[in-house]
Amino acid sequence: MNPAEQVFTHRIDDKDNIVFINEAWTEFANANNAASLCSLVVGHSIWNFIHGGDVIHVFRRLFATVRRHGEQLSFRFRCDSPTMRRYLRMEILPIADGGLEFHSRIEKEEPQPRVLRILDPQAPRNGESSVRMCAWCKKIADGENWFEPHEALERMRLFDAPTMPQITHGMCKECFDRMMQECVD
Ligand SMILES: [Zn+2]
Repeated sequence: MNPAEQVFTHRIDDKDNIVFINEAWTEFANANNAASLCSLVVGHSIWNFIHGGDVIHVFRRLFATVRRHGEQLSFRFRCDSPTMRRYLRMEILPIADGGLEFHSRIEKEEPQPRVLRILDPQAPRNGESSVRMCAWCKKIADGENWFEPHEALERMRLFDAPTMPQITHGMCKECFDRMMQECVD
């Protein structure tokens, strides 16, 4: 199937436990080994897979908004591999008994300008150093500013380092502001 037509689906119950993941999502996650949003396991709380204070805060607000108002919402995010930039759209829909269903689709793919070893789970890591990556757009923080991953790693002279820094998940201001606008009290 054309990847652009695939819908990756997962569901959580009213306690935020993952109760369903479709085959397409599992295959995509296995093929990519990517960051938090991309790998989920049935029977576990979804919060085991969402990391970073801001990211958790925004997802809690999004879930509450959909459950309280009974209306779906959608947003764009990136789920990159070392070689590909992937632009996805996720819809969150209310389902019976307080559950939520998530549909994610790839809207666009393009090659990374440079291969990003930092996104390769097999790449050796330096336990001492870490970089902050936006869970939504995959930009990396250099001080107060956020850059495309290859730019940030070049600026920090980490691109060709023998070991890659750890990734900690956060949100850039642009994504945080954009997502908070989706949340309604
Ligand atoms: Zn961002």
